[in-house]
Formats: sequence, C-alpha cells, structure tokens
Amino acid sequence: MGKDWRYGRKARRKLSAPKIKKHRLQNLQNKKSDIHNNCGDQENTHLPESKNVLTDNNIELTTVTRDDDQTVIVAERENKNSYTGEKSFNSTIPVEVKCSGRRLVDIMFLFDSIKNIDHHPFDCTFRNLTFIKETRNGFFSEFVFMCNFCNKQEVITNEDPNSMTLNSAIVAGIVNTGQGYTQLDTFSAFLNMPNMSNSSYQKIHNDLIKCTENAALEAMEIAGKEEARIAIEENNVNEDRIPLVTVVADAGLFIHKTLHYLAASPDGLINEDSILEIKCPSSIKEYTPQEAVALKKIKCMTDCEGKLVLKKSDNYYFQVQGQLNIAEKKYCYFVVWTPKGFVVDKIPRDESFWKTKIEPFVTRFYMESLLPEMINSRFDRGLPIRSGTSDKPDNS
Ligand SMILES: [Zn+2]
Repeated sequence: MGKDWRYGRKARRKLSAPKIKKHRLQNLQNKKSDIHNNCGDQENTHLPESKNVLTDNNIELTTVTRDDDQTVIVAERENKNSYTGEKSFNSTIPVEVKCSGRRLVDIMFLFDSIKNIDHHPFDCTFRNLTFIKETRNGFFSEFVFMCNFCNKQEVITNEDPNSMTLNSAIVAGIVNTGQGYTQLDTFSAFLNMPNMSNSSYQKIHNDLIKCTENAALEAMEIAGKEEARIAIEENNVNEDRIPLVTVVADAGLFIHKTLHYLAASPDGLINEDSILEIKCPSSIKEYTPQEAVALKKIKCMTDCEGKLVLKKSDNYYFQVQGQLNIAEKKYCYFVVWTPKGFVVDKIPRDESFWKTKIEPFVTRFYMESLLPEMINSRFDRGLPIRSGTSDKPDNS
C-alpha cells in the first residue's frame, strides 16, 4: 500500500485522536477489501494465515485469510463493562457483517435452504437471522447466520455441498472456451466476484484433464470393440482374421480429368473406390428418415421393396453421379441422417447417366453462361445473366 499523505510528519501532528482512529479504520477497510478480492491467493500472500483486525467503536471485524483458499469474515461485539470500563468480547451476540460483491448460486438450492429454516419450537424465519461469517472454497461459499431470537446457528451454502461441482464447472467452462486462469481472474474482477486461487485452479484443471482422458479412452475402447464386432459379422477380416475397420477420410477437391472446369468435393472417401455424401435436413430433425419419407416430409428418397433409395429424378442423384464421374469412383454411400436415425443407399456410378444427362448441360452452362460472365460480366452492368443453363446444374 502506498504511503498516505495524511501520515506525513507535518500532517500527523495536526490530526486529533478520533481522526487518527478514523483513518486507521479506513486503511484497514482498504486492506480488508484487498484481501477479500485476492482471497486465498497464496501466490501473493505466502502466509499460512493472515489476520486483519478492524476496530470501530464497539465492533471488532476480523478477516482471516488461510492457506487453504478460504476467507473467513467474522464479527464480534466488544462489550464495555459500564462499571469497570473493561473490554470483553462476546461472540454470542450476533453482529451483522457486510458481505460485498457477487456470488454464483444454485438458485433452487438456495431458495429451498431459506424455506427449510426451522428453529422448532420457535417460528424463526430468515428475517431473524444475522449474517456473521462467510467461508469460501473457490467459488463455493458457506454463509453462517445466527438467529437473534433463539441463538441457533444456520449455515446456508451457495450450492449443495454434497455435489460441489461449481468449481469444476467453472474450470471446465474456462478451458472449453480456450482461456486460462488469468482470464478467469479478469472475468471475476469485472463481475466483482471473488476468484479461486491459482493453485486451486491448477489442481482442478489437472483433475479435469485426467477425467477427460479416461472418458475419451473409454469411449474409444467401446467404439473399437463395436467396430470390430461389426467387421467380423460382415466377414470384413484379413487372412489373419484381424477385423478391418472402414475409415472415412477427408476427400478434398476432385477435378475432372479432361473438363477442368468441373470439380467435385464429396463429404468423404471410403476405401479405394467409394465416396460419401451425407445430408442432414434440419426440416426432418424430429423424425427418422423412414418416418420422414412415409410422411412425405422429404421427397429425395423413395421406398423400394422395403428399402429407402435415392430417386433418380432428384437433384441429389445428379449431384451424386456428378461426383462419382468427376472423382472416378465406383460407389457413393448416400446417407440421410437425423438425430433420430439414418439411412444409407449405396449408389453405383452410372456413366451413361453422366454422358447423356449431366455433362452436356453443365458444359453448356459453363461455355454459354459462366465463362462469358467471367470474361465480360453482365451482372456487373446490371443486366440479366445469359441464359443457356441446364435445368440440373447442381453438380458440385
Ligand atoms: Zn431462531
């Protein structure tokens, strides 16, 4: 803390006793709020326990910062014996302590805690409680109250102490948004919310990494076993009976061998000879593809002897044949996926379909509309674009 001008030699002589007391009180209050904000940050304090005592006329406020990331604010009333003038502290008479800043709360848990206050046989309510102490563990707070009617102590926490997931949730949120402790510190400061200490953060962070790793490994193991089971079931094994698992690779962009203006980018590559095309129509997210076809919610597929197949008249079929012929692959796995289910149609390459129904149209579209437009734009001059398009230009 910087040197206060009021404590300069000249100024000090002029201060009366009550004024000195007032200034000391002010300085202690500043100190108290500093410690409150950096609460439990051992990096700064390096003290196992630091204590600040703040004395006003008859109240003593104590802020204790302990090494275990906890800050406790307690208040005790100073009782002056009116006969002897002796001072004594009596902690059984509750004195309200101010608790500043914001806290995160599990709102229903807090409501229930307040509702469940029961000082049988008295009818005490929250109104009778005096806040005397807060103990924090990271973002978890324990608020201690004392009933000014029956003297019963009441502890209310900001979330269920049996679950205590708040600190982990905060660290997970910070990590998943690509941030770290410094950002959490700044964020808390803006919200006027006491932050957890760096060491607590690091500990929770390390625990989370372990949990994530274990969960990922577990999921990978389950998926691997399932893939192997399916591969064996479909007799997809090599000569040593080791199951072979299909891997979908990023496909990139294919350019037609001779017609360089034609390109295709399928959603994925499967093995040597197949491509993948996946449609996830959001309009049918409430249905399985089978339900959507039955309800005529999608028109690209039709039921062919109990199996859903892509219609040869649909735009998607032109797209699939375009991709198969540009990428020169044998099959396309056409998938319609919704959160409720998916369907796969394995479509073979049809070269005559390409030769008669796609290539002439896309070539004409390119030569008569796209290329002239690129060379001499009508659009830029505010004129309608040259016609001569195929009716199925969708091939990429
Ligand atoms: Zn009571």
